[in-house]
Amino acid sequence: MEIDSNKSKADNGSNKSELGDLIKVKAILSCPSCSYSKAFKNQFQQKNIENMVVNLKIFDWMTCSCGELLNLNLEFEI
Ligand SMILES: [Zn+2]
Repeated sequence: MEIDSNKSKADNGSNKSELGDLIKVKAILSCPSCSYSKAFKNQFQQKNIENMVVNLKIFDWMTCSCGELLNLNLEFEI
């Protein structure tokens, strides 16, 4: 009599949280009609990417003191 036990162990160590997974973002606001220009630097962890999007949406409709809508340029360092 043979007993064949086929136990499948799914023992994969799943999500290991990696520290130091930072995305650096440089947001540059510039005005098309006057010479206003300002750069903001920030960094986010990859898991907090939604926070970054919220932050950037605020920038997206900022206007210059001269009344023009500011252009937003993003530079990512991953
Ligand atoms: Zn302006």
